[in-house]
Amino acid sequence: MRTSESHGMRNAVLIALLLLGCGILANRHLKNLVITGSGSYGISRRIAETPVFSFLPRWFLNREAVPISRESNASVLKSVFEVFDPSLRSFLASVPIILDSSANTAKAYQAKGYIGVSPDWDNTVGQSPYRAIYEQRGMKPEDPVFMQRFKTDLLIHEFLHLLQVHQGIASRSCYEAIARWYLDPRYGIPSPNGIVPADAKDRRPDTLAINRMKYILWHDLYNYRRVSDVPQDESWKNMQYWERYQSAEKGVEEFAYIGQEILASGSSSENYIKTGQWSDEDWKSKKTRLLEVSPEVIALFKGVFNPEVTQ
Ligand SMILES: [Zn+2]
Repeated sequence: MRTSESHGMRNAVLIALLLLGCGILANRHLKNLVITGSGSYGISRRIAETPVFSFLPRWFLNREAVPISRESNASVLKSVFEVFDPSLRSFLASVPIILDSSANTAKAYQAKGYIGVSPDWDNTVGQSPYRAIYEQRGMKPEDPVFMQRFKTDLLIHEFLHLLQVHQGIASRSCYEAIARWYLDPRYGIPSPNGIVPADAKDRRPDTLAINRMKYILWHDLYNYRRVSDVPQDESWKNMQYWERYQSAEKGVEEFAYIGQEILASGSSSENYIKTGQWSDEDWKSKKTRLLEVSPEVIALFKGVFNPEVTQ
């Protein structure tokens, strides 16, 4: 899952359901169901057959597994697959991507091995039940709710969640390697505008005063103060999760956010938005992003990135 809001939402739903459940066993069972995927037929049937859950609303029980259109998503899938190691291609292509009303944007189900995406995924603003919200944001009725760029970033993020499991990369090693990098002043402090000079390769990493990737992590995972900029004190070094992350496995989101920042880099370029294809410049910006992260962190992604990015 990508946004911190949706994490909060999921936890709130989880807590509400836990309160409604009766008994420790029922609670554990329900928690498992909610976490490991509520979008498939199998799960829906299991819930429906369990009397204790009969109070659940119908929409929860009758959710159907409708995949996204492979045709209208052919271009974005091609671009997304390209950023990963070619040996992963058949695995990536085999992952079901399903319209799922519990996904505000997109959400990986690691245990089940599929990705749920918002039912608005292939809709235009005019077709969306949230039309008014999108129009308030300046979108036109014929605009797609999820643009190529947005789909690219989301899918790369969610595929990284699945690949972490697929490649057997331990969340704990991720968390520890990332914490060491995050606290290492040689890699700079978090900044929303971190720009690494294109020729920074020979000068890494001592010239890095600011670091956008650290900012992404700080902002998305640790920004419990909800301010828009990096604090003046050293509190940005606090790697402790805020309460809403207490149930999350440490290292999981860090792995996906860092990988996404590297691999999706260039998705907002004029060329990519216009053509839906990566240009040489876009590949260069992916390489440049690597310079913000320690080699120890990059090593975690062994066999995941397209060698084009790391060479
Ligand atoms: Zn995520």
